[in-house]
Amino acid sequence: MPQSSPFPSMLAPIQLGAHTLRNRTLMGSMHTGLEHQDRSVERLTAFYAERARGGAGLIVTGGFAMNAEAKLDDHGPMLATAADADALRPIPQAVHAAGGKILAQVLHTGRYGKTSALVGASSIPSPINRRVPRALTTAEVWRTIDDYVRCAELSMDAGFDGVEVMASEGYFLNQFTTTRCNDRQDEFGGSMENRHRIVVEIIRRTRERLGPEALIMYRLSALDLVEGGAPADEVIALAQAVEAAGADVINTGFGWHEARIPTIAYLVPRAAFRFAAARIKRALKIPLILSNRINTPEVADEIIASGDADMVSMARPFLADADFVRKAAAGRPDTINTCIACNQACLDYIFTQRPTSCLVNPRAGRELEFAEMPASRGQRSVAVVGAGAAGLACAITAAERGHAVELFEAGAAIGGQLNLASAVPGKEEFHEMLRYFRTRVADGGITLHLNRRPQADELAARRFDHVVVATGVRPRVPAIQGIDHPKAVGYADLLAGRTTAGARVAIVGAGGIGFDVAEYLLHETVAPEGAANGHAADGVAGFLAEWGVATAPEVPGGLARPAPPRPRRSVTLLQRKPEKPGRTLGLSTGWALRARLEQRGLQMLSGCSYERIDDAGLHLTVDGKPTLLEVDTVVICAGQEPENGLADGLRALGVAPAVIGGAELAAELDALRAIDQGTRLAMTF
Ligand code: NAP
Ligand code: SF4
Repeated sequence: MPQSSPFPSMLAPIQLGAHTLRNRTLMGSMHTGLEHQDRSVERLTAFYAERARGGAGLIVTGGFAMNAEAKLDDHGPMLATAADADALRPIPQAVHAAGGKILAQVLHTGRYGKTSALVGASSIPSPINRRVPRALTTAEVWRTIDDYVRCAELSMDAGFDGVEVMASEGYFLNQFTTTRCNDRQDEFGGSMENRHRIVVEIIRRTRERLGPEALIMYRLSALDLVEGGAPADEVIALAQAVEAAGADVINTGFGWHEARIPTIAYLVPRAAFRFAAARIKRALKIPLILSNRINTPEVADEIIASGDADMVSMARPFLADADFVRKAAAGRPDTINTCIACNQACLDYIFTQRPTSCLVNPRAGRELEFAEMPASRGQRSVAVVGAGAAGLACAITAAERGHAVELFEAGAAIGGQLNLASAVPGKEEFHEMLRYFRTRVADGGITLHLNRRPQADELAARRFDHVVVATGVRPRVPAIQGIDHPKAVGYADLLAGRTTAGARVAIVGAGGIGFDVAEYLLHETVAPEGAANGHAADGVAGFLAEWGVATAPEVPGGLARPAPPRPRRSVTLLQRKPEKPGRTLGLSTGWALRARLEQRGLQMLSGCSYERIDDAGLHLTVDGKPTLLEVDTVVICAGQEPENGLADGLRALGVAPAVIGGAELAAELDALRAIDQGTRLAMTF
């Protein structure tokens, strides 16, 4: 690696067994859901090959079941026959042609499975799955070990460079290694050596069968984050046993799927769990990989340089930007489309049986659909009015396709609602999205007009080939008596810092923004006696303390008593609907946000009917009962209305604009729909 390498540690080659990787980045395994689509292998091939071309040092596929019992659901992908292996052959071929390397992940979901043939170490169900597993007999465990080895052999036949044996997140192998769900009496239960036996046998026999050429990676649960999880000395003993059995490298995972501590959501600080990986690394001779919430080359490089890990695993960041490594190596990390850890189009899609994609990169997982980039009909002139998420996505895609784009923004900076999101504690990753858009606008040759609100006649006179109205939304002002009272403030004014809130606050509206405002308000805390009041402990230490993650190695599963900070304000979140607030929050992130706010004392009321706001506070009826909330501030978060007057003006002048984002439909608008719609529209120019 030349001296001038911008990220010398991350970009340095590394030897894993018989394989030399070109750099120290791993694109970690993700369920893609593409296996269920038409032309599935073609889609997967395009997906992985694009990431190999972008420089990923090593790729791990989504999990393949080694037998029918191992599948997550009845449609789960399997690698159990020669025909299965033949079908997958194009994937490693394409990755190798792009200079990359790729492993197949061997995954048994055990008691997390959604099939009727559920099996496990013991007949102990998971709290997140109503199905009860059948405990495998001793003979069946030995047969399952054989199935693992056969699957690994088939992976090599298909042309993969080796396998990742998945044994974290609470899946089948984890269910054997801990006492939490293993009460077996045979050679696979009881003592630590017995509980580890299945893993050791799989690795040892796989190495024996495949020889030294195969790259064998083991995904270790470095921190279980569940009661009855393993203490650090057991985790380290397992890692050493796996090393001795013939693994080339150990990858890490943090938290079982049933853990009640978030491990990858945006609420988790970057690289929050490195402390647990670092203590394992010190006990090993083979390399160790750190995963979870690593999303920039700066963080990746620093982790490796510090010696806490030898490589970094980034799964979602490679969805967000296939060219992550190439851009970092070119010294342009500012052009990376950064994963904001929202989970909205990756995990949340998978949980709702949709193929994975990415909020910031709608092309992810749809590489065949978005194949053509240069415009086929020559350069067009494009005016985009509004530089929020929809307008920005449209403008940069149109410019990338070779069109002449002018972007008009009424405000002093680009970003629209994204600027408000970035002000919410825990949503700092939105700053990265804004940085990415700023760079793309500047690099893309887009003519940016800030502080400009073009009129319809001006745009019509310019005779643009395409006029895009992306003027966004305005906050809805609900018809509540006293809405003009000084106690009532809008969420946009609050988040933009144009106004502040008192010590007792009511929030009208419990959608995504109502929750964001609650987070914003409950972030200011009362400091311990003698110290100045401040903000909730930010950073890794604050996160670990608030959620109850123990860093002491002797604590089983790494669980401590949560120590939430004491907020300076009391906040009540209100909605008219009778249901529990928060149903519209993200599937895989909403529970954590709600739990954190409840720990910080957030009160929630449903079934509200608002009467008036006056000097006494907010008068309302709750389930028909008159109530007064004696608050200093009422923050209005009652949704939005489209801001689309410009479109009407254009139509009156005979111009047919494309209207996108909130200007088209304010209901349930979020950055996901805005970016997707803007990008797709620009693909049609
Ligand atoms: P929203 O999700 O539509 O919520 C609006 C809230 O206001 C609802 O709780 C609604 O519930 C209430 N409301 C509606 N009309 C009202 C009226 N006339 N008077 C009083 N209350 C009224 O809108 P939002 O919170 O502004 O969010 C906008 C979009 O951004 C949404 O799509 C949201 O999902 C997205 N977003 C997402 C996140 C995220 O974390 N993923 C974060 C922020 C925003 P009731 O009618 O029951 O009172
Ligand atoms: Fe990251 Fe969100 Fe994209 Fe998932 S959808 S990869 S979390 S930016």
